[in-house]
Amino acid sequence: MTHDTPVQSVPHEPSFRESVDLMFNRAAAVMDLSPGLEEKIRVCNATYTVRFGVRLRGKIQTFVGYRSVHSEHMEPVKGGIRYAPSVNQDEVEALAALMTYKCALVEAPFGGSKGGLCIDPRDWDEHELEKITRRFAYELAKRDLIHPSQNVPAPDMGTGEREMAWIADQYARMNTTDINAQACVTGKPVDSGGIEGRVEATGRGVQYAVREFFRHREDVARCGLSGGLEGKRVIVQGLGNVGYHAAMFLSQEDGARVVGVIERDGALLCETGLDVEAVAQWITHHGGVCGFPHAEFIANGAALLEADCDILIPAAVEGVIHLGNAARIKAPLIVEAANGPITVGADRILTERGTVIIPDLYANAGGVTVSYFEWVKNLGHIRFGRMQRRQEEARHQLIVDQLESLSEALGKQWSPSPDFKQKYLRGADELELVRSGLDDTMRTAYGAMREVWHGNGQVQDLRTAGFVCSVSRIADSYRSKGL
Ligand code: NAD
Repeated sequence: MTHDTPVQSVPHEPSFRESVDLMFNRAAAVMDLSPGLEEKIRVCNATYTVRFGVRLRGKIQTFVGYRSVHSEHMEPVKGGIRYAPSVNQDEVEALAALMTYKCALVEAPFGGSKGGLCIDPRDWDEHELEKITRRFAYELAKRDLIHPSQNVPAPDMGTGEREMAWIADQYARMNTTDINAQACVTGKPVDSGGIEGRVEATGRGVQYAVREFFRHREDVARCGLSGGLEGKRVIVQGLGNVGYHAAMFLSQEDGARVVGVIERDGALLCETGLDVEAVAQWITHHGGVCGFPHAEFIANGAALLEADCDILIPAAVEGVIHLGNAARIKAPLIVEAANGPITVGADRILTERGTVIIPDLYANAGGVTVSYFEWVKNLGHIRFGRMQRRQEEARHQLIVDQLESLSEALGKQWSPSPDFKQKYLRGADELELVRSGLDDTMRTAYGAMREVWHGNGQVQDLRTAGFVCSVSRIADSYRSKGL
């Protein structure tokens, strides 16, 4: 299997959507759901396919796009828009289903959706991409498939802040009197209604997920590792938005050593640790990792998935760990930063061997979590912390003043650490609040998964535990509606 080969081409492997459904079935098998409700939760409600033309380079070019809505048990539905040549209906439906389970797991009040456009963004210049994006947004918005209270997209592979700003603007032009127009999409630049910390949110969430895992010694022991994150050898596949931020935070803030990076054109290996920022810069300027100094280049990048390391973080595309290579994967801990990087068959092989997998529906939920905060911010029309920040500072100042006068009255010198006052007195700004909310979300969701993992004799792995948590919440939501 080459890097870019989608999972569908591997013989005898289910498609991506079937893979997600089979993972769902494993959880459903240990739950008490009526067959009708089980089916209702599993199936994708609707997928809209659009073909539209845009006049570019002197002729009309036709593009194919999708927006899939998996579950509307909560609205709006939420999920990214992906730009890649391989986008297809099966893929968007799989990704939409994962969004449903992910949102339920992290208690983001959304149903699941996903969209995609069959396009290689590298084939078009910025102006052309804007025309294509605006036209795609128009096609979706006129059917309420982009809408602040119905369907709220976000970035995914091949899209980012820039595309989200175009989509928001397009929606606003079509809905000039909608005061909540900005909430029609998340992942926007901060100066266009975005929120601090959204760009790096998914990578930050991966870091928080890994940190939370390492807080539980028993869990760490289950995969045969010990100690904390310091010095752990990490291999990351895909140094894009998610992979880059996860690798940066884990190496710079937690002392992990990124010994390998796998990209489209090959992989880099360096036992003493790669300078992640330097590799990212190299990719920006050279289009790939080939030629990067201070590291061994491996042309068959996918082979590095099988290399010896402590933590493997696939952060690129789905289906990269499959029946063909699962038995050779050495990493004892795999963190699914990408959606669906491990096929259902590979998952079984790895789990039976004792590999611990921190599953996608949890590991990469940081993006939708901070998107949720952005959506709330847009609907509230106010930046987080604006009302409280200075008041909080004033109250803290009161305490510091009291401590100073108390120490004076006692004739004792109060000497806090040099940065205590600066840290204690400063009220939280939006970025700090976003990080705190994200950290809390990741810890709470892990706790819920862990309880099922350790407490239910029939559940052997974190993925099934995650599905059990999500599906039981979705089932409760349907039941309370009388279904
Ligand atoms: P991105 O486009 O920013 O980056 C993807 C990176 O992977 C690029 O550097 C690309 O060159 C590389 N890549 C692509 N195919 C590869 C291959 N076969 N082998 C090695 N490298 C390859 O995308 P992203 O936003 O970082 O998304 C990556 C994954 O994370 C996707 O599965 C996406 O669905 C998931 N995800 C993204 C977000 C988000 O907020 N962006 C949120 C949740 C999940």
